[in-house]
Amino acid sequence: MMIIMRTDATPDQIDHVVERVENFGLRAHLSTGEERTVIGAIGDGRPVDKDIFLYLPGVDRVVPITRPYKLASREFRPQNTLIPVNGVNVGSDQILIIAGPCSVESRNQLLETALAVREAGAHALRGGAFKPRTSPYSFQGMGEAGLQLLAEARDLTGMPIITEVMSPEQIPLIIRYADVLQVGARNMQNYSLLHAVGESQYPVLLKRGMMSTIEELLMAAEYILSHGNRKVMLCERGIRTFETATRNTTDINAIPVLKSMTHLPVILDPSHSTGQWSYVSAIARAGIAAGADGLIIEVHPNPGEALSDGGQSLKPERFAELINQVKAIAMAVGRTITPTVHAPIH
Ligand code: PEP
Ligand code: MN
Repeated sequence: MMIIMRTDATPDQIDHVVERVENFGLRAHLSTGEERTVIGAIGDGRPVDKDIFLYLPGVDRVVPITRPYKLASREFRPQNTLIPVNGVNVGSDQILIIAGPCSVESRNQLLETALAVREAGAHALRGGAFKPRTSPYSFQGMGEAGLQLLAEARDLTGMPIITEVMSPEQIPLIIRYADVLQVGARNMQNYSLLHAVGESQYPVLLKRGMMSTIEELLMAAEYILSHGNRKVMLCERGIRTFETATRNTTDINAIPVLKSMTHLPVILDPSHSTGQWSYVSAIARAGIAAGADGLIIEVHPNPGEALSDGGQSLKPERFAELINQVKAIAMAVGRTITPTVHAPIH
């Protein structure tokens, strides 16, 4: 980082900053200009908190030059991270399709959805058993009974399960049933949860907070990576803007921006990013055209009766149409949606 001294900084203040830089194990590189002195603090690439220097006497401002996230950065790892999910090499030219209900509600609802999305070409089944609802009076999920139904759906269809974990304490229970752990938008900065999913070594789908910047998303990923878990998929799920016509605003920009900043796969969730089923297909197509590595889509056999997010859930037949449309876009941009290889239905 560059520490830019004030024009009236005294030689003692400059010496003091140099001393602090060296105390942190960094090399200080002094450049004495006509007006002011700039001190380059050169380290081994590990991020250093700029506030350490910002409040020292004589310092005007501190400009970081290495990125605050390291393990997540493309500089650190130029080639894409590949995460295998049910025969799909996520991060390669193969696109991952995750589909299923917002919440697990009943055996019939889940198994019917699972069979239908598998038939349409989904590779993995989503479904929340623990739901982070804005209102404490809304349906909170079926809990362990929901996880058991997800495991039954996996047995029936051969599809791996992705489900949300809301607290570190839930992890031992959830990993008895899940294949991929979802960290929801509301928990993107729940650092003890990020730490715990990092330690779990399970693949993680990390959703972007609705009010988080791209850099904050990468810092959240850095928490998981720094606990030794390299299997992180990022998920753009829409951000809150001044626009009220849709539930959120899909930040399509985030897809190519993330792909340039990080080696981690990027999944788009057009269900939450639009909040309305009639826009989901168009935005799914846009996401694949923009370079997303996968989609996560909410599907419900009877959206009108869904206990959560019915308005943004597709009926199975519409989901099948979406897959066909997305296949054409994928082909146009040199990507493929591989046919699913599943265990036989018992
Ligand atoms: C969900 O996937 O149902 C969900 C709650 O998503 P998000 O965390 O993106 O709101
Ligand atoms: Mn939902």
